[in-house]
Amino acid sequence: MSLSMRELFLRHVALPANPGNALEITKAKGIYLYTAKGKEYIDLVSGVSVSNLGHGHPKVIGAVQEQAEKYMHLMVYGKYIETPQVELARLMAEHLPDQLQQVFFVNSGSEAVEGALKLAKRFTGRTGLVAFKNAYHGSTQGALSVLGSEEMKYAYRPLLPDIRHLRFGRLEDLQQITEKTAGVIVEPVQAEAGIIIPKKEYMQALRQRCSATGVLLIFDEVQMGFGRTGRLFAFEHFGVVPDILCLAKAMGAGMPIGAFVSSKEIMQTLTHHPVLGHITTFGGHPVSAAAAIAGLKILLEENLPGQARQKGKLFVELLSGHPLVKEIRQMGLMLGVELQSDEQVARLVDIFLEAGIVVDRFLFNDKSFRIAPPLTITEEEIHKVSEKIITCLNQLKDEIH
Ligand code: PMP
Repeated sequence: MSLSMRELFLRHVALPANPGNALEITKAKGIYLYTAKGKEYIDLVSGVSVSNLGHGHPKVIGAVQEQAEKYMHLMVYGKYIETPQVELARLMAEHLPDQLQQVFFVNSGSEAVEGALKLAKRFTGRTGLVAFKNAYHGSTQGALSVLGSEEMKYAYRPLLPDIRHLRFGRLEDLQQITEKTAGVIVEPVQAEAGIIIPKKEYMQALRQRCSATGVLLIFDEVQMGFGRTGRLFAFEHFGVVPDILCLAKAMGAGMPIGAFVSSKEIMQTLTHHPVLGHITTFGGHPVSAAAAIAGLKILLEENLPGQARQKGKLFVELLSGHPLVKEIRQMGLMLGVELQSDEQVARLVDIFLEAGIVVDRFLFNDKSFRIAPPLTITEEEIHKVSEKIITCLNQLKDEIH
């Protein structure tokens, strides 16, 4: 007897966790996912902040097809002049400040973080790294070392030495950044901690402390970059510019690509003593780069970051005031909705699924769930899905009482 797709999935695909009732998606369009059985789901996760333009955007598909026909992989990163990479770097640089004009292309968020940490050590000649509690930076060993949850790390020690974790948002902790520190890595808005938005003054104090001590400030915008927060890049909200910016996820409009971005002066330290300071075979893959160019142009032409600011507020308006909702933390189309307990969140996620809505939980905040739809969601769709969310919350309320 032939095995079902789910049985084959469980037998042959190595998984990082128990997949529970994983959906089998056969088609995706706009904000909708469709299963093999034809059921429709509203995607309020965007593949964890990847599908900012929705699924199956025709311009992105066109760019992928066109580039695939010209060439795919040609040579390891940086050896040939590949037009999609050059054009993407130029387009990004046009929308970034003077301190961030050189783009090193990689394949993922973790890899961008690895590159940034190495660059900070290489440029400063120092070894210390500072990161924050409840931060997520990736799963490779460098990124895992700066990740701010011991529970995810202890089984893999020893990891990188000389790392301090500060409390996010606490001014007094910034004194622990010193002349021995090479780099400070921070998510300008903490994502997996449950959408924690720092004060502008705090981010400015962090910037000042790094400048005063000669430390490179690294912003991990892997999850928040490319419009999600209501600006093209999250750092724009705080009036500060990092020395290194890490990007991935939404960058490729559905294709895998990442980058760390810095100045030419800092970046060129990777080219000598020793040469090949950071290398990658597939970094900036031409097909991914072509998709990224198309994606960035759409974001800008349609002012999707600006739209995200309005649409995020609309969600807050429509969902606030429900007796089970304790708090909503929101920046653009990134919402952390807090309930009273983790049990309530666990049950609600199942109720949502039955109702055809996909949300996601956070790694380091059990009492909240995430709403992060494609930025292309319409106001009408927001009204429709918010009504459904309220119905689900009411069902949960009835079950509790
Ligand atoms: N940094 C942040 C803030 C992230 O959210 C993630 C992924 N969730 C990463 C880094 C790692 O990215 P990737 O999974 O592409 O390696």
